[in-house]
Amino acid sequence: MALVQQKMRIAAIAVLLLCSVAASVHGQQQQCRLGDSLAAELRSQLRPESLVLLPFSAAYRRDIVLRSTNFQSYPQVIVHPAKVKDVVAAVRFAAKNNLTVSVKGTGHDYNGRCSSDGSLNINTRLLNDVFFDVRQNKTFFGAGATFGDIIKPAVLKHGRAVVSGHDLTVGPGGCLLGGCHGALARLHGLGADNVQSIVLVTPTGQLVKASNRGVHQMNTLPNGDLDFKEGKQVTPDTSLFWALRGGGGGSLGVVVQFGMQLVPAPTAVQTVTVTWLLYDAQGKQIRDIFNAFVFNASFWQALGPHWAAWSVGSVPRNCSAPQGISSGTAASCAGQAALSFVCVGDDPLAVEKTPGIRAILNYRAPWVSDMTYYSTKTSYRSYYDFMYHNADTSNYQRQFVSNVFLSPQDMNPSATGRLFTALETMQRVAAVPLAGPDSFETLGFVVSLVGGGAVPGHPEAAKTSISRAFRTFAAELVLTAGGKDPAWDLRAYQAVSDAIAPLYKLYPGSYQNEVSSAEGFNRVPDWQARFWGDNVARLLAVKKQYDPQGRMVVPYGLGWSEQGQ
Ligand SMILES: Cc1cc2nc3c(=O)[nH]c(=O)nc-3n(C[C@H](O)[C@H](O)[C@H](O)COP(=O)(O)OP(=O)(O)OC[C@H]3O[C@@H](n4cnc5c(N)ncnc54)[C@H](O)[C@@H]3O)c2cc1C
Repeated sequence: MALVQQKMRIAAIAVLLLCSVAASVHGQQQQCRLGDSLAAELRSQLRPESLVLLPFSAAYRRDIVLRSTNFQSYPQVIVHPAKVKDVVAAVRFAAKNNLTVSVKGTGHDYNGRCSSDGSLNINTRLLNDVFFDVRQNKTFFGAGATFGDIIKPAVLKHGRAVVSGHDLTVGPGGCLLGGCHGALARLHGLGADNVQSIVLVTPTGQLVKASNRGVHQMNTLPNGDLDFKEGKQVTPDTSLFWALRGGGGGSLGVVVQFGMQLVPAPTAVQTVTVTWLLYDAQGKQIRDIFNAFVFNASFWQALGPHWAAWSVGSVPRNCSAPQGISSGTAASCAGQAALSFVCVGDDPLAVEKTPGIRAILNYRAPWVSDMTYYSTKTSYRSYYDFMYHNADTSNYQRQFVSNVFLSPQDMNPSATGRLFTALETMQRVAAVPLAGPDSFETLGFVVSLVGGGAVPGHPEAAKTSISRAFRTFAAELVLTAGGKDPAWDLRAYQAVSDAIAPLYKLYPGSYQNEVSSAEGFNRVPDWQARFWGDNVARLLAVKKQYDPQGRMVVPYGLGWSEQGQ
């Protein structure tokens, strides 16, 4: 496979016309672009509304900016297909010219995996149609829609929702293919469990639908849109659908449409956030708070699936006004530790009726004067409006992220000690005080525990490739460091790398969508087993079957190790 890959790269270089060395986030980097005659050939195969962006143009430079600005790649050409038929044409063009293919939805991936050097990059942005079939309780949407594009009309027009991530700017491409957990996951399973069909262009250029009924051929209409009518069955084998739901984005084909289960939109969302201001730079307070979190984790796990999420986190900045809800709180506030709960359901008095939560609100720590709490009751729509705060590109920043899953058995006193050690390591290596005046604008870090794993008994669970560690976690420990200034990169990534390394040895599972890992930073030796558990061998077999030439290359993605990495 490595040889095939190398040949493809050599062939790709042969079709280049222009190369130049440019400054990049990784230092000096060679950028190459598709030759003019090939670019013209590609354009001639696409509808005029499709965009073809070549290196050195302003549009290309804008397009390669990713949400994690510490990652950047230089594809030879970027295509924004206007219609499904254009995706087929672009992938076939890549196959004919031995180009690798990368796929971009929103560019949110923490590892910048939606783009790769020298590839033909397909940006699905224009494929954003959303359809509802309320009688069948289903929605069909283009892979270029964001969760905001789907959930807003679902809630407003139909009183329904889909299981998504917490932030509506996230796209379904990466999220659903990697798992996708959010406020409704404990109630309805992961996003991936709720996907009922996936229409994709395979790496060999075939337009097919994968579902629990196997693989079917699909066609396009004369205007280039997808014809919803299923063609003939290619195979009853469901391995492709199994692999797509959990195997991660970008490696098995270009998804053009997801079909997903609609679920009732909760009518009441309550959030409870308890905030402790941190003045103690030695961290005694935060140790106590972590202790309280860990000791109560099994109780919170038993609260029932309407208690969607809880989290505790700390960040080393000053901030007086508590703000934010759910797991986003710690990241958007500063100088404090925050413990948050979200309850989604139909009972507006759920908080008052739950003694354990009342007990937290009544909890009086020695630093009681520094403790505030607030509770909100809102609609699901308003809750998501609140969470919809990341669309602005000014929020884009350099981010180094890693995580481990903690099982219910792991939530014990030793875990508190390890958490605290991780926090101290981050603090020491980043060289910022625990509760100092630093700003995330320069360098900051967050250690947070997000509870509320997916319901392990979901009927679709066995039909997806989600790892057992993901299915059953009691809390996901997430370490994040970063900011806007590249001058702090070294400290930020060293802080995450050093803090997570001992935890990798103890906890074997991590969420593939919330890890950044690059050359020299946080190299995760066991990344395949860590992301996919027992499913690695079968996933690699599916990758080989559908992408025999390794056309789709995703760093730390399916097949990457077989591609000579
Ligand atoms: C602010 C923020 C909040 C987040 N919140 C959550 C959360 O609450 N829950 C959660 O589970 N995750 C969350 N995540 C993580 C999120 O799941 C990942 O970042 C995910 O990779 C984003 O997918 P994307 O398609 O938007 O991004 P992209 O960077 O565009 O794509 C990510 C990966 O998917 C592939 N891909 C994208 N589109 C397609 C397609 N059409 N066909 C095939 N492959 C495709 C890409 O090639 C790439 O490998 C969050 C991330 C951010 C930045």
